Order: sequence, then C-alpha cells, then structure tokens
Amino acid sequence: MVIVMTASATDDDLAEVVRHVEGAGGSAFVSRGVTRTIVGVIGTEEVLEVVDVGLLPGVGEVVRITAPYKLVSSENNAGRSTVSVGGVPIGPDTFTLIAGPCAVESAEQTLAAAQQARRAGATLLRGGAYKPRTSPYAFQGLGVEGLRILAEVSRETGLPAVTEIVDPADVDVVAEYADMFQIGTRNMQNFPLLQAVGGAGKPVMLKRGLTATYEEWLMAAEYIAQRGNLDIVLCERGIRGFEPSIRNMLDVSAVPMLHSLSHLPVIVDPSHAAGRRDLVLPLARAAMAAGADGVMVDVHPEPERALCDGAQALSGDLLDELTVAVATVPPLLGRRSAVTADRMGTTR
Ligand code: PEP
Ligand code: MN
Repeated sequence: MVIVMTASATDDDLAEVVRHVEGAGGSAFVSRGVTRTIVGVIGTEEVLEVVDVGLLPGVGEVVRITAPYKLVSSENNAGRSTVSVGGVPIGPDTFTLIAGPCAVESAEQTLAAAQQARRAGATLLRGGAYKPRTSPYAFQGLGVEGLRILAEVSRETGLPAVTEIVDPADVDVVAEYADMFQIGTRNMQNFPLLQAVGGAGKPVMLKRGLTATYEEWLMAAEYIAQRGNLDIVLCERGIRGFEPSIRNMLDVSAVPMLHSLSHLPVIVDPSHAAGRRDLVLPLARAAMAAGADGVMVDVHPEPERALCDGAQALSGDLLDELTVAVATVPPLLGRRSAVTADRMGTTR
C-alpha cells in the first residue's frame, strides 16, 4: 500500500500517518519527492486491512499495490517521473545524452573527453573513478583523485557528473564530488550499497545486473526507494548472451517493459552493451526509437590509448553521427532533445 500525501500536507500530518501505520502493526517508509511525499506501507494482509488513514489530514490518496516492488511501481504513480541531476532533467519530455570517458585517467584526458561530450550535445558527464574490473590486474581507477578531477572538469564545463560507487564507505566522498551515483551492473544486488546510496540524498543511476530479470532489477530499485530516495534512473546496458562477438546483448524490450512496470526513467548504455564502437550508434538509435529517456555513451579523445574500454569509445565522425541521431530521432517521438537540429554537423 502507498499513501500519497497532498502537496499542502504538513510534517505533523505526515508524522500522524506514520504513527497510525505503526500503531496498526505495519512499517512505514517515507519518500519525499520534488512534488509530493509518499509513504510506503509494508505489512501482512491483516495489517493492511486495519490501516485506515483515508480520513487523516494531509492524505491525498491511498493506493493498494499488487507488484512486489511498491514505491517504484507504476501502480504507485500512473505518470512518469522526471529525475533532476544537478538541474538536468531525465524523464518523459526530454532526451538526455550522458557522455564521458569510461574511466577518469588524468585531468587532461577527462577535460578533453568532457569537451568532446559537450560539443556532441551531452548535458551530463560520466567518468569512473572506482572501476570494478573483471581482472584485478586491470586499471582500477584513480579513486578520490579521480573524483577530484571529475568535479573540477564538471565545474569547468558546466556538465553535472555521474560516477560509479562500489563501496558503501565511499558514499560521503562520492556525494561531495558528484551529482549522481552510478550503481554498476556487478553491484545491482549489493543491498548494503543500494541502501547506502538510498540514504545519501542524491540521484542514483541503477544499471541492470548481467542476468537480472525486470523484477529483480525493480526490487533492487526498491531498496534505494525504501530509504527515501525516489530519484532513480534505470539503465539497460545489455545482458549476458551466448554470442562472443558482442560483449552483451542489448535488451531493447527493457525500455517499454520498464516504462510499463515502473514510473522511473529508463536510459540505455549502448557502449557497455556493444563493447565495440561500430555498434554503438545503431544501438543508440534503437534505444531512441524504443522510447528511452536518454543514452549514456563512452567517449575518449584518444580511444586507442584508453586505459579502460577503448574499443567502445566514440570520437570524431562516429560521435558527430550520434549527435545527428540525438537531434533528429527523439523529437519524432515528441521529446525535447539535448541537441537542436541547428547544431547538427557543428560539433567539432
Ligand atoms: C560503466 O558504466 O563504467 C560500467 C562499468 O558499466 P557496467 O556496470 O554496465 O558494466
Ligand atoms: Mn567501461
């Protein structure tokens, strides 16, 4: 059950609702969104029967939710949510391009990549300081020094920054330097990490686990929401398939499916799906056509020298072509694009 408070509900109204729920033997989880506050109620059927808050002051609506994920379910919110990342919207009215290096390698490389990203029409910067690599011998990221570089480049270019967190102990330092937490594929079900970012007061991008079902993915999102944070963006990045020539299999169906199951925005990372740059543009176009709220791509000023995932990094002509796609395809579906048609072809 979800209790939706009215816009004019006071803190006392909210406290009274929570007291009422707990008095009936249920648990109440409060999430304060930009426009409304909701209270998720968890309890047995018997408990839910006796929770009767409909007449309490400040209560707008009481919704029974049948999906196992409550707060992120579309049953809880028939509309679609917009998540603001440092003032940049990700949601149903816009198409957001997020771009940047896979890993922060140096100040020069990160600045050059961010400038490429901005010229290409990106409004958010990505860059990893903590890299969860398959091999312990591969470049692991610059850690806090990488965060500092990312924050400085973000300030210089005006692009709010998204960066991956791999350890709950790093929540404060990542929150200090970045505008959005990224939970990577390998950590989608790292529940203490999800709870830690859920309580940190910044938006979260939740990437799909390598073999996660939609329900598992949304239950992971629920862990974040349950800590009071509904500013969650789901990111499809390909799932484990059997074809070795592509890194992962992009599940385009995830975009309309997740939009129907949940009110959260859904974006796509074609770079980590493909693992090779020649596929990034066609997959990005497919994501746009399927109704994604944005895409996140790897760019690098010198892909052949990249310390991480150079084979999938865009630059030059391929990046220009992506800009053209971002300017043309989403507007066909009624979205405002981060790139306007008059900027096409002028990205370098
Ligand atoms: C990344 O985006 O840097 C990354 C490591 O992606 P994923 O978690 O999807 O593999
Ligand atoms: Mn990568």
